[in-house]
Amino acid sequence: MEILNYTDAHHDFRKRLREFLEKEVTPHAKHWEKDGIVSRSAWKKMGQAGFLCTEVGPDYGGIGGDFLHAVIITEEISRTYQNGLVTSVHSDIVVPYITSFGSEELKKKYLPRCVSGDIVCAVAMTEPGAGSDLAGITTSAVEEDNKVILNGSKTFITNGILADLVVLAARDPAVKDPYQAVSLYLVESGTPGFEKGRRLKKMGLWSQDTAELFFSNCRIPKSNRLGKKGDGFLMLMEKLQPERLICSIWAVAAAERILEWITAHCRETCISEKPISKSQAVQFGLVEMATEVKLGRTFVDKLIRDHMDGENVVVETSMAKYWTTDMVKRVADRALDFSGSFGILEKNWMAQAWRDVRVMSIFAGTNEIMKSIAAKFLGL
Ligand SMILES: Cc1cc2nc3c(=O)[nH]c(=O)nc-3n(C[C@H](O)[C@H](O)[C@H](O)COP(=O)(O)OP(=O)(O)OC[C@H]3O[C@@H](n4cnc5c(N)ncnc54)[C@H](O)[C@@H]3O)c2cc1C
Repeated sequence: MEILNYTDAHHDFRKRLREFLEKEVTPHAKHWEKDGIVSRSAWKKMGQAGFLCTEVGPDYGGIGGDFLHAVIITEEISRTYQNGLVTSVHSDIVVPYITSFGSEELKKKYLPRCVSGDIVCAVAMTEPGAGSDLAGITTSAVEEDNKVILNGSKTFITNGILADLVVLAARDPAVKDPYQAVSLYLVESGTPGFEKGRRLKKMGLWSQDTAELFFSNCRIPKSNRLGKKGDGFLMLMEKLQPERLICSIWAVAAAERILEWITAHCRETCISEKPISKSQAVQFGLVEMATEVKLGRTFVDKLIRDHMDGENVVVETSMAKYWTTDMVKRVADRALDFSGSFGILEKNWMAQAWRDVRVMSIFAGTNEIMKSIAAKFLGL
């Protein structure tokens, strides 16, 4: 029995998406990797084709799909040999803050353009002095009359350079308890006092733009606050579960692609006229990799179903995030060994895949933090 209930409409969506990505995304992968950023036109084409923010309803221009659409997009993007156009950050991680906590006015103003790809979103929590420890953020938000004045800086922000709209976590400096001091605000690119800094050069995910953001007496309307003042931590906690699940789906999909690639490579590469896939040492390695990938797939599919059923899977998503992102690193590492010197050549995808997956255990909450969360919920 299939764990996930994909309908014919989902299968058709996957088919259309795969054809679209083969034509509009895969051919640009190498170019974007060199540029360190993806093209804005790719975002617009994704939006125009109905592949952004698939869970947004027709009232705001979306198709009103379910979480399986997000799963399909994450899986299919892993076939494009690039990790820059990770639309899940925009569609499934940032935009849900607006759909869940935004006022009707904010939804009407922003959601249709998020769906169409005219607006690219980012979420800005991390600061130079506060990564894992979000309670330590110092970016301030002082609410005065109908305005909010923002001061501080953020770093490592995905889509930072391309972002038109940022969900910003900032604290009221007058409130001592950090868990009651943080609120979330929507800040438009181009607002006076909001500057984008450097595009950070990273060891992996080269085509994914990651940037610093600066706020200096940046004034935004108070109506741009999401939800109630001081509820920022609660909102972040609620949305971090799907974020970690998306990250796990991405990790498993990446591991599946790497396994496909290395299996084909081992079948095609001959030593003394015999494919290396006939060597028992290589066979055992491939079987071990396939077993890990299968375990990841089974675990993640079960979590997708539980998440869609509305179950609380905080512990399991934390476990899945750490295990799947460590698993894909093991698979990539072994695949690189089996591909020999061929694999380390920049022109071959394996080198890029290896360095891209290396970063996954660090973002969306480090794997140590995932284990700390699980330990807490297990009452340890
Ligand atoms: C490619 C990429 C994209 C990112 N995108 C975004 C984004 O879009 N928005 C955003 O806000 N942030 C983003 N981040 C930031 C990311 O969320 C942080 O890097 C992450 O939370 C870890 O914070 P840190 O890097 O400051 O590491 P630190 O918190 O300094 O951690 C350093 C080490 O200490 C360990 N550690 C820290 N605290 C504990 C603890 N309590 N118990 C056990 N071990 C601990 C960590 O596990 C880690 O091994 C991104 C990061 C990367 C690499």
